[in-house]
Amino acid sequence: MPDVFIALGSNLDQPLKQVEQACRSLHTLQHSEFIARSSWYRSKAVGPGEQDDYINGVCQLRTHLAPLDLLDALQNIEAQQHRKRLQRWGPRTLDLDILLYGTERLALPRLQVPHPRMYERNFVLYPLYELTGDIPLPAESGLPKSVGLESLLSKVDDSGLQRLSD
Ligand code: AMP
Repeated sequence: MPDVFIALGSNLDQPLKQVEQACRSLHTLQHSEFIARSSWYRSKAVGPGEQDDYINGVCQLRTHLAPLDLLDALQNIEAQQHRKRLQRWGPRTLDLDILLYGTERLALPRLQVPHPRMYERNFVLYPLYELTGDIPLPAESGLPKSVGLESLLSKVDDSGLQRLSD
C-alpha cells in the first residue's frame, strides 16, 4: 500500500475544529489505514484581501484507493463539511490536497501529484517534515531529478508560521 500524505487547511468557521473533524474522517477512510498526523500550524493567508489565519497540518495514510478514488473521497469530506469557497485562493472551510501518493507522478486533468505548489509552501513542508524527515520528493513536473525535503525547507522562510502545541 503506498504511503500518501494529505495536506489539510481551513480559515473559516472555527478552523481548528474543521481540520480536526477532517482528520477524524481520514481515520475512517475506506480501504485505508491512518498512520500519523503532524502538529497543527497557524499560518498567514496568502491570497486576496484580508483573510483570517489558516490552520494547516499533514496526515499520513496507507491506502488501497487508487489516486482518483482517493481524490473523490477527499472531496466528499470537503463537501460534508459544507466547504465554502468564494473565490480562488479565497477563504475556505476546508481544503484537502494530495501532496504525495507513494512515489507516483501524475499529471491528470483533475489531479497533479506531487501537488505542484507544495515545494514553496512553508505550511506544507514543515508539517510534512515532522512526519517524514529528509525524504527525496519527486521533482516538480518537467524536472527529471528528485529533490530533498531539507533542501526545500532551507529555501522557504518560516515567518508567519507558528506550530501549535497539542
Ligand atoms: P483547490 O482550489 O486547491 O481546492 O483545488 C481544487 C481542484 O484541484 C480540484 O478540483 C482537484 O481536481 C484539483 N487538484 C489537482 N491536483 C490536486 C491534488 N494533488 N490534490 C487535490 N486536488 C487537486
